[in-house]
Amino acid sequence: MQSSWLPKGVCAEMEKLVRRFVWGSEQASHGIHLISWDSIQTDMSEGGLGFKDLSKQNSAFLMKIGFQLITDENKLWVHVLKHKYKWRVMLPEALTTGSCSRLWKGLSTVWPLLRNSLCWNIRNGQFAEFWHDNWLNLENSIAHICEFATPPNPAPVASFVTDSGQWDWVRLASLVPQYVLKKIAALPPPNPSLEMDSLSWRWEENQRFSTRSAYRVLCPRVLENAHSFWRLIWALQVPQRIRVFMWLVMREALLTNVERTRRHMAHSGLCRVCNREDEDVLHALRGCSRPRFVWLSMLPSSVSSLFMSLPLKEWVLANITANGSCSRGDPGWPINSPILIDNAPVIAIRNLLSYNWEVEVRHIGRAANGVADSLARMMRGAQLEAKCLPNHLWRLQRHCCMIQPVYPSLSLFCITKKKIADMVP
Ligand SMILES: [Zn+2]
Repeated sequence: MQSSWLPKGVCAEMEKLVRRFVWGSEQASHGIHLISWDSIQTDMSEGGLGFKDLSKQNSAFLMKIGFQLITDENKLWVHVLKHKYKWRVMLPEALTTGSCSRLWKGLSTVWPLLRNSLCWNIRNGQFAEFWHDNWLNLENSIAHICEFATPPNPAPVASFVTDSGQWDWVRLASLVPQYVLKKIAALPPPNPSLEMDSLSWRWEENQRFSTRSAYRVLCPRVLENAHSFWRLIWALQVPQRIRVFMWLVMREALLTNVERTRRHMAHSGLCRVCNREDEDVLHALRGCSRPRFVWLSMLPSSVSSLFMSLPLKEWVLANITANGSCSRGDPGWPINSPILIDNAPVIAIRNLLSYNWEVEVRHIGRAANGVADSLARMMRGAQLEAKCLPNHLWRLQRHCCMIQPVYPSLSLFCITKKKIADMVP
């Protein structure tokens, strides 16, 4: 892919394999595509997963080769290609294709865009052409800006310098508009004693080629969905599966009953837990009776009404920011850590262990699970003995109820209530 032009059909077939992997499709079953592939291909900072359009990525790699062909004259492969395809000028208008290799064919397809991505650095002014080349880093050439009835004859930039070595302002003022004159004034005039003009990459500040910027030229960014919370989600210090889950929540792409009904996979969007409201993302995570009980158990009453009324994105954002501060001026949720991340059950268990009872926590190992690791460390040899009081038992049961509905799939621990109940007088 990096050194050869791939037909679009081949790239499409490769993308199909990637899609099947992402959505868990198998030979016999078709995975559910929760988010459009176009959205997934957008940048991670814009709400996507940063998967590349392989055809465009292939073109970006070819542009890299084309840029090296222009700027790395000392390399052997550059000499071979230039000699084979009779490359005689510094920057040809187009690449000739007859009987040529796939690489050369690919280079010829990206050549117009590559040419438009280059900017001349003026030294002696002999190679850059004044009217048609991009040497002022403008969107269009000066000839295009001036809209002449007949195209002006090509002339090197050096021909617009006086004998004293300064820009020929009298002549320039009669030919180009004021804002172009200002751009010219910002450049030192060509000097015959300097080296030859060189070409640089327009889309990076350091003027060096990067495949990333070339890909962005090929896929212009649509910043409609850009928001800082995407970066916050991907920067969370939690297992990747939690970050992906948070991403799906923010995209409202969970397979709730409302979504299942929309996809004709169910007859009703009604929540099967409370049977009162439609089950959308916010209902499943906050509004339904069970999660609502959990949240209200963990939050002080002073913030609960605001917590329960925030729209989905504001609500998640308030939970994942470092101190839990929310956008309405509230100082933050007075809890030990963001609620939605894996640390919550760890903190709850730690609180349980701080009580003066005998508590037994059975750890079930799961690979790459931060909570399991934390619990295992915490529980190593922990056997606490003490009297168990009824009010403490009530608090323990309350914590169990809080934890289990939120993390039913974790199954990380089992608090033996029976053992504690036996100790109750
Ligand atoms: Zn419900």
